[in-house]
Amino acid sequence: MSDIKPQPGVMDIDLYVGGASSLAGQSNVLKLSSNENPFGPPEAAKEAIIRAARDVHRYPSTDHASLRTAIAEVWGLEAGQLIIGNGSGEILKLLAEAYAGPDDEVVFTEHGFSMYPIYAKSCGATPVVVPERDRVMDVDAILGACTARTRLVYIANPSNPTGTMIGTSDIARLADGLPRGALLVLDGAYAEFVDGYDGGAAMVAERDNIFMSRTFSKVYGLGGMRVGWGYGPQAIIDVLNRIRGPFNLSSVALAAAEAAVKDAGFLQRCMSENAKWRDWLAHALSEHGVPSDTSSANFLLARFASAEEAQACDGHLREQGIIVRQVAGYNLPNCLRITIGDEAACKRVAHAVGQFKATTGEVRHAAL
Ligand SMILES: *Cc1c(COP(=O)(O)O)cnc(C)c1O
Repeated sequence: MSDIKPQPGVMDIDLYVGGASSLAGQSNVLKLSSNENPFGPPEAAKEAIIRAARDVHRYPSTDHASLRTAIAEVWGLEAGQLIIGNGSGEILKLLAEAYAGPDDEVVFTEHGFSMYPIYAKSCGATPVVVPERDRVMDVDAILGACTARTRLVYIANPSNPTGTMIGTSDIARLADGLPRGALLVLDGAYAEFVDGYDGGAAMVAERDNIFMSRTFSKVYGLGGMRVGWGYGPQAIIDVLNRIRGPFNLSSVALAAAEAAVKDAGFLQRCMSENAKWRDWLAHALSEHGVPSDTSSANFLLARFASAEEAQACDGHLREQGIIVRQVAGYNLPNCLRITIGDEAACKRVAHAVGQFKATTGEVRHAAL
């Protein structure tokens, strides 16, 4: 036995399972498993990537000033209170590293994003899982789970994989009720999909215990580039900057994100296409007897009668070359998460679910 051992908590981590991206023996595969933008990145971002490629012998910026200034202008924020990460995941993890350790607790909800327990365990803290109410986060239950040991409360709003969200007054109540030593982390990976929602930015400016993260991986179509950002109280930004790597983003990624955030037209088009086809798909699925909660994001959580039926439908979709996300690991075994694609994608997946329901309906009928 080696004496070389990882820190406490590390061996309790289950590896993150991402959305599948290929099916053996299938061409024309439709990937609806990772909430990616069906339209890809904006043209301006692709051009910026090509331009930036010429200078990759140079080290990138360490303070990310140009991208922070662009984000601050677009969203009306204070550039000095922004931090750029290698995906928002890096920032969420830095928060855990900086603020939680052994003997501390990190709170999140039962259907919360599956990276939260990984961040908690990787710094030796104790994850605390709070029940939701019918797939919606419950502020009273979260507050009830907090103790003097609570350091971080992670919530995604809108949430993944449920697609549901809580309102601004609930978030304020949550922040106001937290113990003094706890920070509320608002993961805004899907905030842009909600018309008129600032992801909680205004509340960050008013309080010292709220931090917001955002990403370029979803609506901006840049998941492969790895760019996210955080907005928080100055004291917290200063702490995170001490522990982040100075060259945590490539110059190519920084250039892509800056071009993307300046493209307001792209954001508007993607938001409205998403809303249109999300409503269409929710309606089509419900006509086939598959309900879903009202989603505020770029996916639907399709609900089946049982875990077996959800599995069987997933199997049928795979036979049809369609990959969606199984969410049994999120304590939702009777559900499948389906990303909103473009018109053709939504029609294809709705048709396949309809086929599945029709055949299983006949089988059930024949068995009676
Ligand atoms: C996709 C997603 C993220 C984004 O992660 P990145 O590291 O920015 O790609 C963060 N939180 C949630 C809930 C997500 O679904």
